[in-house]
Amino acid sequence: MTTYEATIGLEVHVQIKTHSKMFCGCKNEFGASPNTHTCPVCLGMPGVLPVPNEEAIKKTLLTGLMLGCKIPETSKFDRKSYFYPDMPKNYQISQYDRPLCLEGGVVLEKYAFPKETQKEAIALANKKVRLTRIHLEEDVAKSFHFETSSGIDFNRAGTPLMEIVTEADIASPEEAFAFLTTLKQILIYGGISDADMEKGQLRCDCNVSVRPQGTSQFGTKCEIKNMNSISGVRRALTYEIQRQIEVLQEGGTIRQETRRWDDPTGQTYVMRTKEQSHDYRYFPDPDLMPMQVQNDWLDRIRLEMPELPRQRQERYQKEFQVTEYDASVLAADLALAIYFEKAAADVKNPKLVANWIINDLLSALSDQKMDLSDCKVKPEFLKELVALTDAGKINSKQAKEVFLEVFASGLAPTQIVEKKGLSQVSDTGAIEVFAKKAIEANPNSVADYKAGKIAALNFLKGQVMKLSQGKANPQLAGEVLERLLKAS
Ligand SMILES: [Zn+2]
Repeated sequence: MTTYEATIGLEVHVQIKTHSKMFCGCKNEFGASPNTHTCPVCLGMPGVLPVPNEEAIKKTLLTGLMLGCKIPETSKFDRKSYFYPDMPKNYQISQYDRPLCLEGGVVLEKYAFPKETQKEAIALANKKVRLTRIHLEEDVAKSFHFETSSGIDFNRAGTPLMEIVTEADIASPEEAFAFLTTLKQILIYGGISDADMEKGQLRCDCNVSVRPQGTSQFGTKCEIKNMNSISGVRRALTYEIQRQIEVLQEGGTIRQETRRWDDPTGQTYVMRTKEQSHDYRYFPDPDLMPMQVQNDWLDRIRLEMPELPRQRQERYQKEFQVTEYDASVLAADLALAIYFEKAAADVKNPKLVANWIINDLLSALSDQKMDLSDCKVKPEFLKELVALTDAGKINSKQAKEVFLEVFASGLAPTQIVEKKGLSQVSDTGAIEVFAKKAIEANPNSVADYKAGKIAALNFLKGQVMKLSQGKANPQLAGEVLERLLKAS
């Protein structure tokens, strides 16, 4: 039987974080009451003139620089004509043949692949997905469908939207997942967008086709429109690739069509076929002059290039001596990275801080379905916790207890240690009292130890810990026991 391979290209729409909309002074803000951020320009009234938003152009160019794109000297805006209620002018201002950025690419991060596929993904890491272009356009309004009527909110109409188009370089749903995860990290690092897919700040159209393995001609592609979660993209592509393969295996042909993904049923459905596809009749927007990107402006933007996730990960490995995995987890999320650096600053063993964050903090946050920004464990508290254990004031078991208490209450670790009387007993005299009691109460274990059974010592150590209510310094307890046993 023929085996098939998939070819995937993505068009990613990114809402750019700016104060105002793309061509007017209305606020660019998510979540306001419907139709409160509107004006004659973004409502498409006759006789108004658009004025381009410099911040949006700058952020698009910065994205291009971060992704290694070429920035052409001239660029222009075009009108993309179509008639639909979400576009009151009956055209959208976009860019046709002269976009702001060309080429470039996204290098897939190993740990950006879905967790359960990371082992196989290692071979694919560092694969570069090439970009065709990045252009800037205005977003359209948002329609809402009720039981017997529909409504349109124009707050989103005219907000700056960047479209990142890839070459058909993606070979699997997992690579698409890794591409979007990596891209999202970079966009957040650059302050370009919050890239929150739930808020529609990152949306994606997928072009997918299949062909017999090893052949060079692309199969007929289908487009899946308007995906709004990274895991949804993976599920939709997995379904669609399988669907196309089955059609071909049964001797059918793939029709070029636009499909929509329905997450609850886990299937894609036809929205429109090629015959009905739009004819956009692009032409240069007569209200907007072509843009000349001056070199000195571009140089100034280049100075604002942030440290990228991969660079930060490499720095963490060098500066804090953490493993590649730890560094990649910490660097993957900018807020977490900033948190780590605060907690690890001037700490003797930053690896311990990384362990607390990755093993304890992240799991506590996910258990409580909380964001780092709502977390009561301040970075300085982790620093304090590590200092308390390092100084032998509390043992590792007590430290876990203190951590959970800090997480719940927001009190400082030292306060909790004091309040709960937790401090570890490192006083040899006090430990001797417990050790003598343990020896007295367990003559069998003492005999075992003397007969050479080392495990008996661990049992006695456990008794000392119990007698001290977990407060004894375990290492010291072992030393004292050995000394007393040898002397007896
Ligand atoms: Zn407006």
